Amino acid sequence: MNRFEEKVVLITGAGSGLGQAAALQVAKEGAKLSLVDLNEKGLEDTKAKILEVAPKAEILLITANVADEQAVQNYVNKTVETFGKIDGFFNNAGIEGKQNLTEDFGSDEFEKVVSINLNGVFYGLKYVLKVMKEQGYGSVVNTASVGGIRGVGNQSGYAASKHGVVGLTRNSGIEYGQFGVSIKAIAPGAIMTPMVEGSLKQIDPENWEEVGKQFVQPNPMKRFGKPEEVGYLVAFLLSDQANFINAAVIPIDGGQSYKY
Ligand code: NAD
Repeated sequence: MNRFEEKVVLITGAGSGLGQAAALQVAKEGAKLSLVDLNEKGLEDTKAKILEVAPKAEILLITANVADEQAVQNYVNKTVETFGKIDGFFNNAGIEGKQNLTEDFGSDEFEKVVSINLNGVFYGLKYVLKVMKEQGYGSVVNTASVGGIRGVGNQSGYAASKHGVVGLTRNSGIEYGQFGVSIKAIAPGAIMTPMVEGSLKQIDPENWEEVGKQFVQPNPMKRFGKPEEVGYLVAFLLSDQANFINAAVIPIDGGQSYKY
């Protein structure tokens, strides 16, 4: 499939995990890419992997903090200056934060997680949707989480921010559908990325792999998801094939969030 021939896709958190997987998939299908991350080395790693599978890909790398509104405006401007438009936006960068009971969670930690996961997504929407409205087309995928549609525990900041991402998705989808722009969210369960590895190490730094095996037992499919499985979903949702999917939240979790 070449669903992204002549299309420009902007991805935040592109230096690792789900952002990298989505970048690889849309690059294989012909996309020009604007890749944003705080981690410059991660971006270089993603670029090298893309060039292995799509040697002709045009790639712009932008080191930026999505929690900084000015930096967000800047990455959107640079993308438009370089490629002239934005067809797809994967608004994905995020962190988990330290796990703790609500009373011990810490106000600074709460603010940090919310500023990246929620403010960062809001700023991205604010500047990208203005561009897409003027174009009269575009597709946005925000990364929420099962922690944005269910209670997980020990994750005040994450839960608040990811439920907020679901709210932003529904709100902006209702607003921008009339301009030919669709906005959706994905709600991944546990997908084996560096973030989840870090999360398991918070539980037991020595035996985190064993913790992981126990962790997936309640999942109907008894395994972690793979980043490329999320990449396939995001590519579909960003493509023209998914234009009429709007303001929707799509779980990708082996069915776990539907289990009683
Ligand atoms: P990851 O840690 O592998 O990748 C996240 C990337 O975001 C990293 O490259 C990191 O440098 C970047 N980033 C972090 N803070 C940033 C900031 N302030 N500005 C710019 N870039 C920043 O994690 P992942 O698993 O790929 O997570 C991607 C998204 O998916 C996150 O929003 C996460 O909450 C969400 N998610 C992941 C899972 C999972 O199981 N992996 C499940 C549900 C939701």
